[in-house]
Amino acid sequence: MIDLRSDTVTKPTTAMRKAMAEAEVGDDVYGDDPSVNALQELAAELLGKEAALFLPSGTQSNLVALMAHCERGDEYIVGQQAHTYRYEGGGAAVLGSVVPQPLDFDDQGRIPLAKIVEAIKPNDPHFARTRLLCLENTWNGKVVPQDYIVEATQLARQHGLRCHLDGARLANASVESGQSLSILAAPFDSVSLCLSKGLGAPVGSVLAGSVDLIERARRWRKVLGGGMRQAGVLAAAGRIALLDGMHALADDHRRAKRLAQALAEMSGYQLESQATNMVFVRVDVDDGIRWAERLRELGVLVNPPSNHVLRLVLHRDIDDDKLERAISALSAVAP
Ligand SMILES: *Cc1c(COP(=O)(O)O)cnc(C)c1O
Repeated sequence: MIDLRSDTVTKPTTAMRKAMAEAEVGDDVYGDDPSVNALQELAAELLGKEAALFLPSGTQSNLVALMAHCERGDEYIVGQQAHTYRYEGGGAAVLGSVVPQPLDFDDQGRIPLAKIVEAIKPNDPHFARTRLLCLENTWNGKVVPQDYIVEATQLARQHGLRCHLDGARLANASVESGQSLSILAAPFDSVSLCLSKGLGAPVGSVLAGSVDLIERARRWRKVLGGGMRQAGVLAAAGRIALLDGMHALADDHRRAKRLAQALAEMSGYQLESQATNMVFVRVDVDDGIRWAERLRELGVLVNPPSNHVLRLVLHRDIDDDKLERAISALSAVAP
């Protein structure tokens, strides 16, 4: 099966499995797991922050960050189309008593600065206390312009807000822009990064920030049930993902371009966008679920189109040969 649903489907490499088998472990809730500690130190260094925390998922990484920044009745400003708001089950409100203030992203993943200022509430008991600005990079595969990020976070700070980055795919942004992870993360108080997407680890995310923030995050991770014991078997794979995973991303981006070009030239598809490892294409079919089923019969897995738009994601388990086979299959089922 050629799986284009997401880059979360990547399987651990041989090197990762070997490192997992040989990992030194301890009880991480006691802080005793050397492999987890090594991963956290590496993540903090690469992201340019004082400390980092290993978490089971990107969702928990973001939730723990929101809960570490905000108290009950605080508010965070977030994209209407952002993962933390839209695709995390409303966790900040459900579990954190943190009020979301969603605002529309433009097509580059930016919330206009004037809209941010307008949404910041006065200090008055009628309102939730606006505490945090949350941005996302990459968004729909797009690298959010860093000059915007610098401006938006400066503006937020002038109004006393803290800043969190959902950097689930920040490694893709780094490879694409040629800027280091630490430069991209510098404007933020905290940043989450997924190890289990294009970087290829089987499980996990890291959250980086100040020592103080990470201490609060560690407490919330335990409360949320994310305190894992001999988690070093997972962290060992995560460490390899951070050390060796980034160079493969450039190939994913090149293949996404190739796929976008092929689809642009194919009748039946209208290319919407391509950025880093993602391709969005319009497919006008009445029954998207049946259409995806036909593609599956040809050996290609996709999520059914949503509002007639199909998202295709490239990753390290799709080489050039598989990509060409996927293109042939897409051509065969073109509407
Ligand atoms: C995948 C993703 C997450 C959440 O990661 P999970 O490990 O699936 O919980 C958060 N933010 C963005 C932008 C993502 O793409």
